[in-house]
Amino acid sequence: FTHSFQTDLFTGKVNFPTGVFINGEWRAGGDKTTIDIINPTTGQLLTAISEGTAKDVDLAVEAAQKAFDTVWGSTLPEANVAEYWARKTFSDAKRFDIPESARVIRYYAGWADKNHGKVLETSEAVLGYTRHEPIGVVGQIIPWNFPLLMFAWKVGPALATGNTIVMKPSELTPLTALRVTQLGVEAGIPPGVLNIVTGYGKTVGHAISSHPSIEKVAFTGSTLVGREIMVQAAKSNLKNVTLELGGKSPNIIFEDADLNIAVEWATIGIFFNHGQTCCAGSRIYVQESIYEKFEQKFLERIKQIKLGDPLREGVNQGPQVCEQQFNRIMSYIDDGKKSGAKAIIGGKRHGTEGYFIEPTIFTDTTNDMRIVREEIFGPVGVLVKFKDEEDIIKVANDTVYGLAAAVFSQNISRALSVGHRLKAGTVWVNCCNQLFAQIPFGGFKQSGIGRELGEYAIANYTAVKSVIVRI
Ligand code: NAD
Repeated sequence: FTHSFQTDLFTGKVNFPTGVFINGEWRAGGDKTTIDIINPTTGQLLTAISEGTAKDVDLAVEAAQKAFDTVWGSTLPEANVAEYWARKTFSDAKRFDIPESARVIRYYAGWADKNHGKVLETSEAVLGYTRHEPIGVVGQIIPWNFPLLMFAWKVGPALATGNTIVMKPSELTPLTALRVTQLGVEAGIPPGVLNIVTGYGKTVGHAISSHPSIEKVAFTGSTLVGREIMVQAAKSNLKNVTLELGGKSPNIIFEDADLNIAVEWATIGIFFNHGQTCCAGSRIYVQESIYEKFEQKFLERIKQIKLGDPLREGVNQGPQVCEQQFNRIMSYIDDGKKSGAKAIIGGKRHGTEGYFIEPTIFTDTTNDMRIVREEIFGPVGVLVKFKDEEDIIKVANDTVYGLAAAVFSQNISRALSVGHRLKAGTVWVNCCNQLFAQIPFGGFKQSGIGRELGEYAIANYTAVKSVIVRI
């Protein structure tokens, strides 16, 4: 196997590693079989990575346990987590994923010396206080849609609170986590504190969520797999679970909204990252009195989206992540057409190579259609008329998901009162898809359990111990 990322200075070509990263070093993964990593722009092979096994997870847990007992969990984590990464890794940062990830890591570095318990007064004769202790070795399983940001959201709070980590990145995008971990170790993170085991969910992911020495698993991904993780966690050692799952978020546009602002955000809401966003505003509801005007402006705006090689300047939409996702999204488009909905824009593959899909909006839908109810995770939205506040609150909440929602209105009282009645973990007013390191993010209903970001994520990774002293 090859280890480390090496750049050929003459050709600029990067040689990718194929190993897993355990205890601060590269190793050949498990049974030596590999997983192909395909460039979605061309459909061509980029590299192949190790297909890790349950044995790799055991080795990673062992290393993480040793690091927890010796260098990380037993001392107050004063170490500047931000310094380990931010000074190297993000210097070339250009896009959302990278600067936002650096902000999250810096934010949690600031928490490392602020995670303290409380003194709880009872009577003169009793002193009670709490300690926020690290949990120990934690397992983390992340998806492919933001390979670095999802890594930062998980690793930041877990390390700042003194835990050690065994992480499985998505088999579709494992290179980012491997590279950043390698840089972190080069910058001084002790061996064993952060270990990356690449591989598939059914083997490596399963080994993590059912491992008897892992006391907590934090998962981001689909609701279907989240359900399985919870079962595995319950069956093994009843480990603590946090789940960040899917969504089918409504964007609600009232007649008193600033139309230009609403059109811009509705476009970002559904088409940002090619629709591969958990909080994508995939259900766009517009009040009937402004519906025609909105539709016309929305279509004009969508026509400006430029598809192509995502590495080129000026391109807004690249390929979907892989052939399987491409086929899945196209089957939703077919299903929408067959069930009587109308694609007023898009609805087709774009080009002949790679996995590109035209930005697609359906109208003439009914609330029982799969394109209205299920998470498509692609550039496909539905545009629907509504009558009034009561009508839209009912329709918007008629979903098993509850990750996010957006309300557009210049009447702030209306926006807030509707927002408070929506069953969603995040409500945006006159914007959407805005995330901040200090503001929690997570789902109601089947969109998840627990919160990421802010001080809420600190709580995910700490065990509260009460000490009661009789004086
Ligand atoms: P996925 O559920 O298919 O996979 C997520 C991760 O779980 C991957 O690493 C995968 O290998 C692993 N996995 C799969 N089966 C497993 C099993 N049986 N046991 C353990 N691990 C297993 O999701 P995906 O396609 O990678 O990502 C898209 C999904 O992620 C969407 O549903 C999206 O909404 C969700 N997501 C949610 C958030 C959030 O913050 N709520 C953020 C990003 C993505």
